Amino acid sequence: MSEGSRRDEAGFDAIVIGSGLGGLTCAAYLCAAGRRTLVLEAHSVAGGNSQVFRRTVHGRPWEFDVGIHYIGECGPDGMITRILNGVGLAERIVFRPLEPDGYSTLVFPDLRFRVPASWERYRARLVETFPDEAEAIGKTVDLLHRIAQEGRRFQNQETGMGDLGREAPTFLQWGLKPVTELFAAQGLSQRAQAVLLGEQGDYAVRPSKTPAALAAGLTDHYMRGAFYPEGGGQVMAARLIEAIRAYGGEIRLRSAVARIRVEGGRAVGVELAGGEKIDAPIVVSNADLKRTVLELVGAEHFAKATVDRVRSFRMSLPLFATYLGLDIDLHAMGHPNTNYWIWGSYDIESIYEEIEGGKLSSKPLAYVTVASLKDPGNPHLAPSGSTNLQIMTLVPPDYDVWSVEEGPHAARSNRYHRDPGYRQRKHELASQLVDIAECVIPGIREHIEWQESATPVTQERFTHSTGGTSYGIELACDQMGPMRPGPGTEIGGLYLCGASTPSGHGIGGVMRGGVIAASTILETDLMALVRSGEVIGDSKLLPPLREDWDPWRESR
Ligand SMILES: Cc1cc2nc3c(=O)[nH]c(=O)nc-3n(C[C@H](O)[C@H](O)[C@H](O)COP(=O)(O)OP(=O)(O)OC[C@H]3O[C@@H](n4cnc5c(N)ncnc54)[C@H](O)[C@@H]3O)c2cc1C
Repeated sequence: MSEGSRRDEAGFDAIVIGSGLGGLTCAAYLCAAGRRTLVLEAHSVAGGNSQVFRRTVHGRPWEFDVGIHYIGECGPDGMITRILNGVGLAERIVFRPLEPDGYSTLVFPDLRFRVPASWERYRARLVETFPDEAEAIGKTVDLLHRIAQEGRRFQNQETGMGDLGREAPTFLQWGLKPVTELFAAQGLSQRAQAVLLGEQGDYAVRPSKTPAALAAGLTDHYMRGAFYPEGGGQVMAARLIEAIRAYGGEIRLRSAVARIRVEGGRAVGVELAGGEKIDAPIVVSNADLKRTVLELVGAEHFAKATVDRVRSFRMSLPLFATYLGLDIDLHAMGHPNTNYWIWGSYDIESIYEEIEGGKLSSKPLAYVTVASLKDPGNPHLAPSGSTNLQIMTLVPPDYDVWSVEEGPHAARSNRYHRDPGYRQRKHELASQLVDIAECVIPGIREHIEWQESATPVTQERFTHSTGGTSYGIELACDQMGPMRPGPGTEIGGLYLCGASTPSGHGIGGVMRGGVIAASTILETDLMALVRSGEVIGDSKLLPPLREDWDPWRESR
């Protein structure tokens, strides 16, 4: 019996641990292919980082996104659209574009740069912004564009490994080298380099360790448009859950997996925190990589080299987020539908030195995104006449930064968030972020109706991630592509998906990783089918669309 073939009708063919978008995508494809799949999620709302949370303040409703703010590849030919199409969901999610001529605005000490969603316009605007180094910057953008195109063809298997030298020479020459080497070879100034890396908080790797393919790939991700799902971030998880159920799968919330059971070198099922055992010949972990290997399975089941490798992986830096409700309506005031990346210095490397050294950045660093501008018609986001926005920054993972001795995972308690020291640290950083945001939304402080913040400790509590990151293991040159683990493992029937696997983090990365994990299990190249526009599930099984459909309720 192959890994992909069905087992007995009464049981589950596969269990997916975790309902992040990687896990849900994998489960949806397995179900669409006829494998009865159970998703087990520890939290009370599905979606992992893609979930939203709601607050009612003086009788007024707010809904805040955790980890979907802007995504690429959502146009008609986009990879995310195609992945959704493969399980019959393409028509069931509407994506709203951010401002095409400036979906992000980079704010540096003496320069603002609006990033357009087109390689041609991006190049022209950069050349115009840096007339003294026009030739060098033009050449650099051409190289990045080529790396992205060649990398995409390689990823889509249009270019084979043996053809790389002939068909992907730029990718081969530069792709895995630090992007700073490519910049130095073109003689770019520090200012121009910083502008080219202005959205690099999306992957959080210091420039000297950033593979050129990653920098090029992130730019390329948004060059056919940056989007936000109409109805809020929860729509993505909720629609995938709809597909999982329609195709015969199940999702159980408040069901933390304590152990992946391994017998004779094969996964045979899981044991929940309450002691219940569930059998399945296939177990896919969408949970944090280190916890999966070292805690859920246990080091004793892996080769020592695997365990050493997993222990030695560096996690990405985590994020701190402040969620704000404002009593003014930026949409009605005509504010542009753009994200802001605010950098207090052109020396991005030195910002990372501080944060990786365990300190908060002494220079301004903030990402500001305004949900109300991206989806003004969504009644859940903010009360009418108000604005919902978030400010984020990169922070160290160290507990002592937050005045906490051990994380909620080890402590098995959530008391940390009542500690006055913890609250004070949170309050101070949130206040600094509000000050930083003044330069793009003047007077913001006077209009705050609701404010709360999440630290990496919050992130660890809700998603059990090591170091409170949502980006998995760091996507640095030495932990890129084939250097990352999964989807298969040395344990029969055990697979990995999610941010630490080769397709990486971010909504696009983990959804692609979910399809790749399902492909490996089913021994079928699902990505090829997805790219060709094939629908794997029987979309007639999906429930009718409803006016009163509420993604948050569907995900609970
Ligand atoms: C503040 C913030 C902003 C972001 N903004 C963007 C953005 O704008 N665009 C973008 O593309 N990406 C963004 N991201 C990143 C993106 O959200 C993540 O990389 C991605 O969602 C991770 O998906 P995943 O599949 O790895 O699973 P995760 O989201 O990490 O989910 C894993 C799930 O597994 C569950 N789990 C863990 N252990 C167990 C267990 N033992 N038993 C049962 N369940 C378990 C967790 O509860 C969780 O639900 C952002 C992230 C954050 C935090």
